[in-house]
Amino acid sequence: MKEVRTRFAPSPTGFMHIGNLRTCLYAYLFARKEGGKFILRIEDTDRERYVEGAVETIYRTLEKAGIDHDEGPDKDGGCGPYVQSERKSIYMEYAKKLVELGGAYYCFCSKERLDSLAGEGGIKKYDKHCLHLSREEVEKRLAAGEPFVIRQNVPTEGVSEYDDMVYGHIAVPNADMEDGILIKSDGMPTYNFANVVDDHLMRISHVIRGMEYLSSTPKYNLMYDAFGWERPAYMHLPPIMKDAQRKLSKRYGDANFEDFLEKGYLPEAIVNYIALLGWSPKGNEEKLSMQQLKEQFDVDGLSKSPSIFDEAKMRWLNGEYLKAMTPPQFTAAALPWYEKSDVKGMFDYDKLSKLLIPRVEILSEIPEKINFLAHFGEYDPAMFEHKKMKITKPLAREILAKVLPVLKEQTEWTDEALKEKLSSCAAEWQVKSGQVFLPLRLAVTAAAVTPGGATEIAELLGREETIRRVEFSLGLLDNDLKSVGSAE
Ligand code: GLU
Repeated sequence: MKEVRTRFAPSPTGFMHIGNLRTCLYAYLFARKEGGKFILRIEDTDRERYVEGAVETIYRTLEKAGIDHDEGPDKDGGCGPYVQSERKSIYMEYAKKLVELGGAYYCFCSKERLDSLAGEGGIKKYDKHCLHLSREEVEKRLAAGEPFVIRQNVPTEGVSEYDDMVYGHIAVPNADMEDGILIKSDGMPTYNFANVVDDHLMRISHVIRGMEYLSSTPKYNLMYDAFGWERPAYMHLPPIMKDAQRKLSKRYGDANFEDFLEKGYLPEAIVNYIALLGWSPKGNEEKLSMQQLKEQFDVDGLSKSPSIFDEAKMRWLNGEYLKAMTPPQFTAAALPWYEKSDVKGMFDYDKLSKLLIPRVEILSEIPEKINFLAHFGEYDPAMFEHKKMKITKPLAREILAKVLPVLKEQTEWTDEALKEKLSSCAAEWQVKSGQVFLPLRLAVTAAAVTPGGATEIAELLGREETIRRVEFSLGLLDNDLKSVGSAE
């Protein structure tokens, strides 16, 4: 059986958009599932759209996403070069061959002549003028150094058809297609030509790409046929939408991989989420590792309707990844956010992680969630008053005064042990456990809202600091109650 070979062929024009990454991922997963090869090819023939650093972005993205190519500019597999700008002479050679075979022809038409060819509805369609030049004429003009392009010779009649693995049967009347340029006047190929030559020479068995190429593929097939080459199989993928009307794009927010990393998403969660944008696994499980994706990916699960990018869902999925981490794993991922928070260096980060793991969906939430830990000081004791829990300042004071010696005697300083101890104290003192835990949490944080309860935070702060804070809060309450008393 023929070896399965797929490729990802990005143009280095800037960031790696989610749509591109999904195309890449599907091509990769399909190759892995079929035990085939995955090839990276850089399509940089359009020098005007070239962006400095974009090739590095491609490599970085693949690496972070966990997508490893078997062949590419940095991994020779015998089909190189894998960068189109280094293949110029190859395209020229094949374009000439195609001219010999009748599938293409030289065109010397001036810009003025082309501009004058306004066709139906204002669409300009080339009129095959130069197709009729004699061989001698062409050679004479080439020898004279006249500028030229090479155009595809598309039949004017008949219909070109193929079966797409996602969209099914596609038929395009030849009359609807134009004799597009294959080689530009600077000698560079167009995408329309380079993709055919490269996919053939790189022995690509399955071409997987965005559906914007669905209707030009019949043109490419005409070239495969003219060369006498076997056509590849095609899988075109539906667009990813921002909402029902708009395609996801740079213009509509953060649609690129590295921006999401910066926002605190994990690469594996992004990859997992985008794998589901256009493909449904057979089972119900949505959290799928790269290994599971490789095993489960199948063409049957591909959808031809556009999918909507739902950041809230990706965020939820990211949270699921975080919840599955151990504190040291979480710390490793969260480190840059710890370091830029106000608690930098203040705590054992693994303990901080224990507190945050169940409470964070994306890592960038971290600083705002933990900064309060670094800012303990004077605060308004009115915070202790809680009607629903029937907590008043005097009650809070009374409870804290009882809690303090308990804390001082406590030997095992963990969330669990403290929770157990204080719960039994509450029962003994005949108060609700919330009437112990809430004042304690406020007393050690001075913040109305915090991630984690009193004992989790106490564990994190450690015995000494917890006691110091409770004493400070008791003093604050004492002063407050005293001044109220004297005012009366
Ligand atoms: N360079 C093309 C693009 O980025 C690749 C299309 C293809 O995969 O054939 O759209």
